Amino acid sequence: MVCAGATIIVEKAHASILLEEFKESHCHHCLHWTLGPVPCHQCSQVGFCTTLCRDESWASYHQYECGLLDLLYRCTRDVNTGQHGLLALRTILKAGKQKMSIEQAKSSACRSSVGMLFDSADYGTVYSLVGNTAQRSEADLFRRTIMAVYLTSFIQQGDGQEPDVGMATALLHLLQSYPCNAHEISHLAVPLPSEPCSQNQLLQLQQVRPCEVGAAIMPVVSLMNHSCNPNVVHVSYGDVMVVRVIRRILQGEEIFDNYGYHYATHDRKERQLKLGQQYFFRCYCQPCVKDWPLYGDTPKLDKRSDISDALVKDINDFKRLVCYFPEGPAKLEESVRLFTGYLDTIESDRSISLPVQEYIKVQEVLKHCFALLATLSPHLLV
Ligand SMILES: [Zn+2]
Ligand SMILES: [Zn+2]
Ligand SMILES: [Zn+2]
Repeated sequence: MVCAGATIIVEKAHASILLEEFKESHCHHCLHWTLGPVPCHQCSQVGFCTTLCRDESWASYHQYECGLLDLLYRCTRDVNTGQHGLLALRTILKAGKQKMSIEQAKSSACRSSVGMLFDSADYGTVYSLVGNTAQRSEADLFRRTIMAVYLTSFIQQGDGQEPDVGMATALLHLLQSYPCNAHEISHLAVPLPSEPCSQNQLLQLQQVRPCEVGAAIMPVVSLMNHSCNPNVVHVSYGDVMVVRVIRRILQGEEIFDNYGYHYATHDRKERQLKLGQQYFFRCYCQPCVKDWPLYGDTPKLDKRSDISDALVKDINDFKRLVCYFPEGPAKLEESVRLFTGYLDTIESDRSISLPVQEYIKVQEVLKHCFALLATLSPHLLV
């Protein structure tokens, strides 16, 4: 059995991109925030947290895109290739021309699927992720084909050669796969203490919002299926994803992620509609089968008022901790232990039938703890 709070996956992004609005505050390569960015040797469109990130980026992909970033960012807006277009292009540039041919990618994907090794760093592993081509309309495929050709033309600008069909084909494949498999990289944005807080006015947890800074492809994290009542949550340490448990997982039980539609915040009809449109499946998790209510209609824990009362006090203490940043972060792991204790107590009490509001609340606080720890952490070496 794995209890809430445990870390079960740590994965470095196969490829990642930084959103344009963060290019002056975050590292182009590892996506960590940085106070004094190190510039590229040749362009003024990117900044890095260290010379190591700059040199790794150059050797891997930046040598091909250097000087083109402003155009590529404009392309994501004007031609609507979106961040997945940029991420697909980054993946191809990292893979290098020798791995771009479909035959090579397929044989690499084959090795990944039949062999014992599922290697995040292997382009074939990324290539093997599902793209749902058969379920896509002709209009959808045509639009993605145009995007693939357009992005290829950027990289080939001025070389006078025939269009690189191999590159465009590989891009088209990833442009179908990434809407289902790419992950958002986000940090928590904490309001300044002077804004919402006073001794009597507590910060609302809703005010501490995730702020999307980029996107990444993580083949291992992508293996997790969806549940509207997930047992894990993932948080970004720059371009490293860490998956932590938020609900007890018994031996043999599947690990479930959430694809953005939780039972407490979206009703069953909306969840099924959105999951069908973006991911092409119907969800049969417990909240969907039993039609669990939204948070506001979920019963409270009447039988155990001792838990409810203690929880109210501890959550208020936690809000003060977040509010009076930066004294709080050192105590965040302490908060994780405190709140996972509540989950254990509720899960172990057979007289309690889930869902109850207190259980959902504790999970939300835990998610904030994990995200704050990730946002405030130094680089994770993976
Ligand atoms: Zn960096
Ligand atoms: Zn450059
Ligand atoms: Zn569901």
